[in-house]
Amino acid sequence: MYSVRSGYHKARELGLQSEAESSEREREVSLWRSVWALQAHASTKVFIWRVLKNVIPVYLNLSKRRILVDVRCPICGKEEESVLHIMWICEFSSQVFSNSVQSIQKMRLRFLDFEQLWLAAVDRLSSSDLAILATTFRLIWSRRNSFIFEQKFQPSKYLASYAINSVAPSAVKSLVIPRRVLLSFPSSLQGQVWLPPPEGIIKVNWDAGINVAVQKSGFRVVIRDHLGVLMAAKCSSRPIALDPTVAEAEAALLAVEFAMELGFRHIILEGDSLAVVEDILNEDYCFHDWSGVVLEIKAKIQRLFSCQVQFVPREGNCAAHCLAKEALNCDNPITWIEEGPSVLLPIIIAEKSSIQSSEGF
Ligand SMILES: [Zn+2]
Repeated sequence: MYSVRSGYHKARELGLQSEAESSEREREVSLWRSVWALQAHASTKVFIWRVLKNVIPVYLNLSKRRILVDVRCPICGKEEESVLHIMWICEFSSQVFSNSVQSIQKMRLRFLDFEQLWLAAVDRLSSSDLAILATTFRLIWSRRNSFIFEQKFQPSKYLASYAINSVAPSAVKSLVIPRRVLLSFPSSLQGQVWLPPPEGIIKVNWDAGINVAVQKSGFRVVIRDHLGVLMAAKCSSRPIALDPTVAEAEAALLAVEFAMELGFRHIILEGDSLAVVEDILNEDYCFHDWSGVVLEIKAKIQRLFSCQVQFVPREGNCAAHCLAKEALNCDNPITWIEEGPSVLLPIIIAEKSSIQSSEGF
């Protein structure tokens, strides 16, 4: 039966309902804005949005869709894996944040759900720290997946420092300089032979070799200028037969460190391991056995004014390659400045004269 009184209640109910609907919309819009304003990689923004919408396949979400029975966290096995658990509560994620920037460490509080956590972070953190936090969430999720699918688990401090480095303003820029700058050579020569760097830039070639029989890995570096003049060379070794790509990454690290030691700040870093080059150029943390070393390379590269990282086929990496024996036989690092071992000199001369002949071409 209609009465003024019931009509009043009805209207009020409808009013409240639409009020609730519009505040729900507002909430969604402000969440969306906070994610899209992030100063992070686009893939990180998309990821955070999916986490906020609770559509990532954590075990609890899978079980709601009746896909999985055991909802325990795949990492710690202690609690059910909700979004908040894997991103924040899990002791392994907690380790990552305790290695992060101070403002994030100070946020180690309890939250009801991920949205509450995110809003608190938006409220308290500077925009760069918020980007670090968002990147860290994405890395924690990748680590969780590579643990489930590849049985690999990266140390927490790597994730923390990767997230911090990836947000540092100079980090990405120094890595995305175009790979090739030299276009003045006949295209048939490109990629086949060693090419000199442009004037003012130093080219640092690296290579690695392993001798399984004697359990040794050797690393070598050759540094030349734009005229192909040998500036320096270095060999070192380790008494262990490393995985070939890990050894290549170690050699690349040696190359960066050596160039910096000599005071070079504009370099081209060149090697014949495509896997290592790709990993260095990748903005994301890759979960390979050599990614930890690559992370160190990336951190060092940031201190240079410019660094171009590029791949060259083995034919173009002869100088570094020819020092294989020297590297495997040395017990202590050997450094040559403005000179080199006899095995290296013919290659330096040959590559230098090929520059001159192709310039006249
Ligand atoms: Zn856990």
